[in-house]
Amino acid sequence: MSKSASENAFLIAGGGIAGLATSIALGRMGLAVRVLERVEAFSDEGAGIQLGPNATKILDQWGVLDRLEKKAVRSEGIAIGDGMTGEHLATVPFGKTGLERYGAPFLLVHRSDLHDALLDVARSYSGFEIKMDHEALSFKQSTAGVAVTTNKGEIEGRALIVADGFWSRLRNDIDTGAALSFVGRMAWRSLIKASDMPEPLHGPWTGLWLGKGAHLVHYPVCGGDKINIVAVIADRWGGRSEGWSHEGDAGFLVPHFDAWNDLPAQVVRTAETWRVWPLFKMSPLRAWTQGAITLIGDAAHPVLPFLAQGGGMAIEDAAVLAKTLEDYDEDPWQAFQPFEAARIERTARTSFESRRMGNTYHMGGVMRLARNLVLKNRSTEALLKRFDWLYEFQVDK
Ligand SMILES: Cc1cc2nc3c(=O)[nH]c(=O)nc-3n(C[C@H](O)[C@H](O)[C@H](O)COP(=O)(O)OP(=O)(O)OC[C@H]3O[C@@H](n4cnc5c(N)ncnc54)[C@H](O)[C@@H]3O)c2cc1C
Repeated sequence: MSKSASENAFLIAGGGIAGLATSIALGRMGLAVRVLERVEAFSDEGAGIQLGPNATKILDQWGVLDRLEKKAVRSEGIAIGDGMTGEHLATVPFGKTGLERYGAPFLLVHRSDLHDALLDVARSYSGFEIKMDHEALSFKQSTAGVAVTTNKGEIEGRALIVADGFWSRLRNDIDTGAALSFVGRMAWRSLIKASDMPEPLHGPWTGLWLGKGAHLVHYPVCGGDKINIVAVIADRWGGRSEGWSHEGDAGFLVPHFDAWNDLPAQVVRTAETWRVWPLFKMSPLRAWTQGAITLIGDAAHPVLPFLAQGGGMAIEDAAVLAKTLEDYDEDPWQAFQPFEAARIERTARTSFESRRMGNTYHMGGVMRLARNLVLKNRSTEALLKRFDWLYEFQVDK
């Protein structure tokens, strides 16, 4: 008996950035997609996200950029300063210079605006379906396809793409060798009104302040109406259960910035409500594909946020997965292994560079002075060149 259209669909566990990006990439190929999403409804909770040209180039091809641009802010660059002295160290220009160099903008967006735009475009494909309040619990596969057990019963499809994020439950059922470890840092995030931001820091760009054992990032989102603030501090993880964010107490955070220059310290003092993310790393997986099942996004290769690339990597994954399926006659059994092979090196490098960047941000003593000297003397060309490997990415390369 032949299978119904829905039984022949690609199942995607998780409707976050990776899951929805994959829905679009497969939808463009005319493939049927069913997303199983754990939550009952998406909330607009969340924080800012920076999208480099490697990701916005793909979003542009998909028609997502058009829907996103009104709510996004085109970044003119990153202004790097020493948080302790307030001294300006360097500017990485992402405005006209970056656009000319990489062929796509650097965008500053609220995560829920990105999510809405992805969902809008995914919904424009007739083969797209999303099942909310469907938590994927486990899966079985045979040559006939994949069956996913959810809290609402079993759902069949021709393949399974696991996009259930950093704390992936389904990853445990594949022999990936995943080992997660806390990196000794917590990311505190807040959203404030743009009008509350100290005047010298207004503008369409990212401020990055480096300090001993801490750093601070701020940039406008929501069309410039709000400012996303991220303060990363060295800290112990309070042993909370797994999961993402929890509420943070400003009274605990602010003293970490007492020794800082008043301008960046003022930014931290301005924000009243915070959410806190413990930062974890995961070494590159041994493998993330098993037959017609593969992992994607944070489930496959979480990236610490210091390069602002976790979401970007998920978007790249989706585009590469679609291209690989195209190359292998849409056969997941053939395509998923080459997809993994195409992604493992780049995502591992991004993860490594991100960790390295984080260490540079938090330097103290003589290392800090040496870092500042290097940054102050680096030409614009040299600053940008360091990002070429990241931002010049093309799917067919
Ligand atoms: C502090 C911080 C700052 C960051 N800044 C940036 C940045 O500037 N730029 C950038 O590109 N990235 C950034 N990131 C990373 C980025 O947010 C993630 O890489 C990205 O969200 C990963 O997308 P994902 O879809 O793989 O996972 P997620 O966004 O976690 O989505 C997973 C989805 O799966 C659902 N789900 C979970 N389990 C199940 C299940 N069993 N069944 C069904 N559904 C399930 C969840 O509800 C969710 O909808 C940052 C991260 C942090 C912590």
